[in-house]
Amino acid sequence: TGKPATGKPATGKPATGKPATGKPATDNKEKKVKKHFNHGKKSRSKVRKQKIHEHQVAVHDTFKKTMASIASDSKSKTKKSRTKQSSESTGENRPVIKVSEYVPVAELAKQMDIPPNSLIAKLMDMGVMVSINKTLDMDTITLLAEELGYDVEPMVEYAEDILKTRDENSVIKANIEERPPVVTVMGHVDHGKTTLLDYIREANVVSDESGGITQHIGAYSVKLPDGHKISFIDTPGHEAFTAMRARGASVTDIVILVVAADDSVMPQTIEAINHAKAANIPIIIAINKIDLANADPEQIKGDLSRHNILVEDWGGNYQCQEISAKNGKNVDKLLEKILLESEMLELKADSLKNASGIIIDSKLDKGRGPVATILVQSGVLKIGDAFITGMTTGRVRAMHDEYGIPFESAGPSVPVQIFGMKGVPSSGDTFYVIDSENEAREIANQRRIMKREQESNRNKGVTLEDVFDKIKDGYIKELNLIIKADVDGSMDVLAESLSKITHDEVRVKVIHKGVGGINEHDVLLAAASGAIIMGFHVRPTSLARDLAESEKVEIKLYKVIYEAIEDVEKALSGMLTPTIKEIIVGTAEVRDVFKIPKVGNIAGCYITKGNFKRNAKIKLIRDSIEIYESKISTLKRFKDDVAEVNQGYECGLSIEGYDDIKVGDIIEVIDYQEEARKI
Ligand code: GDP
Ligand code: MG
Repeated sequence: TGKPATGKPATGKPATGKPATGKPATDNKEKKVKKHFNHGKKSRSKVRKQKIHEHQVAVHDTFKKTMASIASDSKSKTKKSRTKQSSESTGENRPVIKVSEYVPVAELAKQMDIPPNSLIAKLMDMGVMVSINKTLDMDTITLLAEELGYDVEPMVEYAEDILKTRDENSVIKANIEERPPVVTVMGHVDHGKTTLLDYIREANVVSDESGGITQHIGAYSVKLPDGHKISFIDTPGHEAFTAMRARGASVTDIVILVVAADDSVMPQTIEAINHAKAANIPIIIAINKIDLANADPEQIKGDLSRHNILVEDWGGNYQCQEISAKNGKNVDKLLEKILLESEMLELKADSLKNASGIIIDSKLDKGRGPVATILVQSGVLKIGDAFITGMTTGRVRAMHDEYGIPFESAGPSVPVQIFGMKGVPSSGDTFYVIDSENEAREIANQRRIMKREQESNRNKGVTLEDVFDKIKDGYIKELNLIIKADVDGSMDVLAESLSKITHDEVRVKVIHKGVGGINEHDVLLAAASGAIIMGFHVRPTSLARDLAESEKVEIKLYKVIYEAIEDVEKALSGMLTPTIKEIIVGTAEVRDVFKIPKVGNIAGCYITKGNFKRNAKIKLIRDSIEIYESKISTLKRFKDDVAEVNQGYECGLSIEGYDDIKVGDIIEVIDYQEEARKI
């Protein structure tokens, strides 16, 4: 059947914007530059410390001034930028915000119900330069809240601060050692991530260790011939990576960005770049599939330069290695580059204290109960250790690595699968070995209670319908949009037209655009930045739809560019009239296609949700892209025509006016409802 044509953008675009310094450097020169760079790094860190110090002095000054002005103001005046509740209050019962440390700016703005830009401006006044996705420490949050008339109730995971401080205080200087880097491989689908990870794993298993069965625990550690070790995290595609980052967790020291040399920079490549950059994690580029005849690494480098990734031999800072993950060519060189990057990062940890780390993956195993893969970040994890992780506790009953080798203990940067938990923790949960099992249980209990509270307090995201009210009330200065379209062309036209919409008080800003269906990742990004997602001829995946519901992210789907633009214009002027909302009342997967002479193609479907009726309005979706809209013309159970088929059953159907049905297509039954505008 072959892959469906999904309006893939034309490759082989003219390489514009190639920098003048496009001369490949020789290997020798490269090393020299690197050494030089190394030195620069050290002295730069001194300069940075100095800067941080100056910065702290400045913040302190601002703080004093602010406090003074608050003190003199507090009796008579109130902040005009604040909401009604606070202007009525006299400072005694100021609104309380519950935030966790390392909350991103966007999330804090949402909690305070003020535009992220105002928050960024306020922070700038205080001498703190941040972007919308940067996280803030508790000191800064407290300062900021003071300034804006809030009381802060820190919502670090309950007792996290105690555990963390205790953990940090238990570090003994003499026991600090270098630790291996933790690496995550990212990139567009089919560019060779799995192949690369598999090659590295197989090429570097120490032979005398290979007695066990490979377990695929989502992370593994390799030992290079020169004795150096590197840990790879395998499961977090960038969805999980983003989810962890949203929780303030960082697992990765270095990101390897795989780009196939016979393709180009693709949507997921861009997403990976954006996210690694936002998290401040160094990126090493791996240009893969150079064994292919049509491989064009230079074109990839050009592509990357257009996304502000300038590789070293183009005069930039990013290490880059051309590889073939399939036959292993140059993979050793890639590993060397990882070690080089790691050296510059000066990664260290105490290797003897009680272990602390992070949950990478977890599941409930039918036979063995809860199991989790944990990355030990510092200290040493031993069999019998009592621990707390997220809302669950336990004692390490057994542990083993990717190769099924049982471990008695695991040190910094070592990923291991452990058994002995009472419940299943979540990816990104912190993990601490704790001396008192009682204390661990109490903490876990309290966390469960707070989690429940938090869930009932979930606040709402922005919708097009309520955007005008928020503008009026001065809460929104920027309307953030995420655009997903079926092809490059419409994506660009839509983004450009939307960005051009002008409004006295609001700026329309496209924070992310991409080709392809709307995925969980888009929704997470929208949730973190208070954005609305606009899809053009594309659909959300069912996971994305569920997530959007729970995260209160609005997804608007359009088929005509003009309508999308008009909707935004109307929303901004408060003229948005009742909208017709599309509801999906049923879905089915096409599992087979039968050719019936004179009738045409009949799709053999399995109904996964709702029920299907003859003449029902449907949409045909292929790879999250809307292909055709029509209705069901024939509906059959086996050989008989029927009026209706229910969920969980198979049926045969044909679509009026459309014959090119393919296996794997999704058919959605659509209903339309009028949705009144909120006032
Ligand atoms: P992922 O989706 O990024 O994990 O990509 P995979 O590792 O599954 O690879 C996708 C396809 O590309 C598979 O068919 C691989 O065999 C192929 N592939 C991966 N690396 C190379 C390479 O270096 N050369 C060639 N010729 N094919 C490769
Ligand atoms: Mg893969």
